[in-house]
Amino acid sequence: MTKQVLTVELMDTTLRDGEQTQGVSFSPAEKVSIAKALLQKLKVDRIEVASARVSEGEKHAVAQLNEWATKEGLVERIEVLGFVDHTRSVDWIVEAGGKVLNLLTKGSLKHCKEQLKKTLDEHLTEVKQTIEYAQLQGLNVNVYLEDWSNGYKDSPEYVYDMVSKLQGLGINHFMLPDTLGVMSPQEVFDSLSDMTARFPDNKFDFHGHNDYGLATANAMYAVKAGVSSIHCTMNCLGERAGNASLAEVAVVLQDKLNIAVNIDEKEIHTLSQLVESFSGKRCADNTPIVGADVFTQTSGIHADGDKKGGLYMSALTPERFARCRSYALGKMSGKASLAKNLEAMDIDLDSSQQQKLLQRIVRLGDQKATISADDLPFIIADLLERNEYNYVELLNCSINSGLELESTVSIRVRVNEQTYKTSGSGNGGFDAFISAMKKVLDKEQFIFPELIDYQLRIPPGGKTNALTECTVTWLDDGEQITTRGVNANQVLAGIGATIRMINLKMHTK
Ligand SMILES: [Zn+2]
Repeated sequence: MTKQVLTVELMDTTLRDGEQTQGVSFSPAEKVSIAKALLQKLKVDRIEVASARVSEGEKHAVAQLNEWATKEGLVERIEVLGFVDHTRSVDWIVEAGGKVLNLLTKGSLKHCKEQLKKTLDEHLTEVKQTIEYAQLQGLNVNVYLEDWSNGYKDSPEYVYDMVSKLQGLGINHFMLPDTLGVMSPQEVFDSLSDMTARFPDNKFDFHGHNDYGLATANAMYAVKAGVSSIHCTMNCLGERAGNASLAEVAVVLQDKLNIAVNIDEKEIHTLSQLVESFSGKRCADNTPIVGADVFTQTSGIHADGDKKGGLYMSALTPERFARCRSYALGKMSGKASLAKNLEAMDIDLDSSQQQKLLQRIVRLGDQKATISADDLPFIIADLLERNEYNYVELLNCSINSGLELESTVSIRVRVNEQTYKTSGSGNGGFDAFISAMKKVLDKEQFIFPELIDYQLRIPPGGKTNALTECTVTWLDDGEQITTRGVNANQVLAGIGATIRMINLKMHTK
């Protein structure tokens, strides 16, 4: 039977469990900024920010955060993981100004017996001692049953016994982790339905891991089984395959179970990018909701469908997450994709210009994986500036460059009716090309203008595979000429700008 819950709390543990990701360590300043954004921008219900007793630096960060949160009235929403160590974790949390202890206890007989070498009752004596001390110090207490999923499978009696014996101690949340991410949605549903039926007065949290890629589905089934909170992280950060993704869980609960969550979806993407840059872990481009490509249509048919009234839309619209739909340009795109992009940039081109532009995009698309909307101004500027002069044409060009070696170039070039083959060398590929080209043009009495500026750029936010634009400024008889070349290869972009200058100069002669 599915239980009816109307709102589910999200507990974000990016700063505690998320920081256990291989190679991730947040500085105190980074922790504070992420925590503030989680609570005030994303408006997540609770956050877990550290493990007690980790280091002095960590304590300082937690103290700074709690001081801010106290002023903002948010300190009850900041939680710290602590251990069954009587006074030590509690003192650490209290000294850092904290209000909530998430106590890590053993949720499986195996862990209790083999790791602690204790019986459940011996373990519970110490657990209760820590809880009592924490409450005396004014802390709210939640309890993690570590390895609960294996505990439930292998020794359910242990789990029932433990939860029964922890009744009446004023524990707020019983937090049930699938520590190794081993459960399926059906197993989550069955086991948690059992737990919530046996202990109807307790608040249960589910803490999932993504080892089988099931963390989001498991969170959904945990909610169906009646848990009141889900633990998750930004960008799935966490050990091994990570924790459940906050973004995915938030949208799945709302869209698939019609359950409210207290977060501002419009902030998810910004927060994801903040966590990407502080953690150094980038999300894959196809990550649901936050990935770079998830609102990009690559097929012309889809762009055409959008033009004709949202034929390819779902509830996951870019507007919902304050993002934009974009239309990729390249071999697979068609007129409709191009028109969408031009419309978004307010650029008016007639149909023959659009036709030429499309041909050019398809050709450039062969050199580069994707042509993005950011590349478009380069390509249009290049196209519109392109003169029809064709006195000189580069037929072939091979460039060799090496570290601490002179670069060499071989070219085959047509000048008017004549074809030349020659080579040149120089300090870099572009310099070698100029030396080869000068040899050819000497025969045509062409005086090479002086290069006075050379600028290379890629579109804002471009990556290593970006299209490059090269603008070269030449001084010719006291007059400046600027020409442009666009290519995926930066030396060829410079060469394109040079060939264009030569054609322009030959034409004016
Ligand atoms: Zn975990």
